[in-house]
Amino acid sequence: MTVVTRFAPSPTGFLHIGGARTALFNWLYAKRHGGKMLLRIEDTDRERSTEAAIQAIIDGLKWLGLDWDGDVVYQFSRAARHREVAESLLAQGRAYYCYATPQELEEMRETARKEGRPLRYDGRWRDRDPSEAPPGVKPVIRLKAPTEGETVVEDAVQGRVVWQNKDLDDLVLLRSDGTPTYMLAVVVDDHDMNVTHVIRGDDHLTNAARQTQIYQALGWDVPKMAHVPMILGPDGAKLSKRHGALGVEAYRSMGYLPVALRNYLVRLGWSHGDQEIFSTQEMVDAFDLKNIGRSPARFDFAKLENLNGHYMRQTPDEELVDALEQLLPELQGDEHHLGRTFSPGLRSKLVAAMPGLKERAKTLVELLDSAYYLYAQRPLHLDEKAKTLLAEGRPRLAGIDAKLEAVEDWTAAAVEAVVRAHAEAVGAKLGQVAQPLRAALTGRATSPGLFDVMAVLGKDETLSRLRDQMSAAPAA
Ligand code: GLU
Repeated sequence: MTVVTRFAPSPTGFLHIGGARTALFNWLYAKRHGGKMLLRIEDTDRERSTEAAIQAIIDGLKWLGLDWDGDVVYQFSRAARHREVAESLLAQGRAYYCYATPQELEEMRETARKEGRPLRYDGRWRDRDPSEAPPGVKPVIRLKAPTEGETVVEDAVQGRVVWQNKDLDDLVLLRSDGTPTYMLAVVVDDHDMNVTHVIRGDDHLTNAARQTQIYQALGWDVPKMAHVPMILGPDGAKLSKRHGALGVEAYRSMGYLPVALRNYLVRLGWSHGDQEIFSTQEMVDAFDLKNIGRSPARFDFAKLENLNGHYMRQTPDEELVDALEQLLPELQGDEHHLGRTFSPGLRSKLVAAMPGLKERAKTLVELLDSAYYLYAQRPLHLDEKAKTLLAEGRPRLAGIDAKLEAVEDWTAAAVEAVVRAHAEAVGAKLGQVAQPLRAALTGRATSPGLFDVMAVLGKDETLSRLRDQMSAAPAA
């Protein structure tokens, strides 16, 4: 049997982090078993589905490196097939027309509310003949679900989950306007697409019972189910925006590498011993449903940052610069006048500086910020830490500009000798001079080695930046 999984998002919003994890798990499971992952856009809800959301989902999957097999299946385009299946159930006596009016349903709802239980359609049209239909009411088609016994889902994550059939009412398959319900559409599509494994969020667990009843009525095999617990916020509450319930594109703009996000997501609810770092091949080789945890995973930004730092350090310098460049169009405003691409000159400076810069940064955004000294326009904009360093150390820089001006052969070693001699002359430690100097030249409190920075900037730029700051009024 070829494994066929599917990712079946509803295009009512972006590809959020939970959806991305579902997609990853389906992708890994298919790859692990030499199978296929299909992509089905569940756009039956015409009011809430948007073209922009479809595009965001597709872009998000591509960015994450999760490809699918074959063409995208659009659920709405299959409505005729869904209707045909509902009608076949009707013909076999496994479904029936229900003419209950909205008022009647409202009464049932009201009674249920009073009794403190969920609405349960009472089956009043189950055995009635359509000849009794009231005039002017367009019927829905309902499944004639079993009223006794149990419906069982043997879930690969949740174990054996049992529902009493008396608690499950006759669900609607086809609405009175002839459109299929979500419940019917999913079953028909999964069947027609030969899906063998349904891996999705456990918010669909009850649907799994409903869908199992439809499969059984149709005499179709029920795919293997795996319902993965939700992702919670770090405090155990529902994942909120602040805690990471964002679209995948937000992670891209925050400067995370897809490889890091993938690695982060695979460990969000699945484990393989105590291994934390997985190459894509390692994930594929190790992934299974058995090791998906039964309790919800908690989102942890610090862990994601650490993984991202790890993968940035592993990324070749040229590639990192490419990744920075791809981020440029997403930067808010463009106060640094970077434009949309790096000039060749800046590019080579960035590549040269990468080994030093990437040691510290946790995201591409931080990395680009730490490279500020390479593309900064005078006068520099100092961050808060740099302002403080300079305000405190500015007096110790007095006179250093003239000494640097005298350097003829501008190398890291030559400027280092001057800075050291100056520190000694003013009775300061090297750091007490180097730190305010770094602040003036880079606008930041940390940077790669100061003398290398000075060498890269060259004599004129170094002196100009230094003098800009030496003449600036000390911060109050
Ligand atoms: N369209 C559903 C959702 O986005 C998923 C349905 C399924 O996986 O069966 O939540």
